[in-house]
Amino acid sequence: MFKHLLDIIYPVSCAVCGVPSEKHICNKCRSAITLHPAIECCSVCGKIMMEVAAAGLVASTCTQCRRTPPRFDMARSAATFTGTVRTLIHKFKYNRATWLRQELAELLQGCMIANFSKEKIDIMCPVPLSTSKEKSRGYNQAGLLTENLSRSAAVPNVPQVLQRKRDTQTQTFLDAKERRKNVADAFFSPKEMFPWVYGRCVLIIDDVMTTGATLSECAATLKANGAERVLAITIARD
Ligand SMILES: [Zn+2]
Ligand SMILES: [Zn+2]
Repeated sequence: MFKHLLDIIYPVSCAVCGVPSEKHICNKCRSAITLHPAIECCSVCGKIMMEVAAAGLVASTCTQCRRTPPRFDMARSAATFTGTVRTLIHKFKYNRATWLRQELAELLQGCMIANFSKEKIDIMCPVPLSTSKEKSRGYNQAGLLTENLSRSAAVPNVPQVLQRKRDTQTQTFLDAKERRKNVADAFFSPKEMFPWVYGRCVLIIDDVMTTGATLSECAATLKANGAERVLAITIARD
């Protein structure tokens, strides 16, 4: 009887710790997420530069962005890719836990408000998944996140503006240079979508950012079709 009552009050359990909860992530686990600060980070890629701030210096751009400037104008992540967030993304991506999409999209929206409140974003789109991966996984995790974020942020989701030209090998074991080579010329923005892209500010969505090579290539593709400004947000930064 008591268990039945609990099921009515708390229909789901926390995806991280398993306790009965109103939402898929309980408040305790949510508050354990290491959020990325909106300041004290690289002005371009959002990499945390606490040492620079601690030394009393003004953080501008990180070494990597100075050495190889990315093609996006700004990228930001909601959280660090550790602990709770790593568990959630892993379940969302590899264990078909698509029911986490709303809670994860809320993290993205918080990141969007914290970093891009002054931006006038025209459209958003997900990083397209390779055809073979989408077929075996059954969904594009970035696509699901973009659908939810588009609704709550009231910004049109236009996935057609950014598409895959070819599949790429998994980036896990590649360094920054190899990643750039791996994703080079992997995307296209169709000419017919030009009216949606030309002169626009486009926001790209993905789950995790590592070196930013994929997001940079996506931004270059959109800019080649006339995008004026390209921003990117991810749930986590590895
Ligand atoms: Zn929990
Ligand atoms: Zn940077």
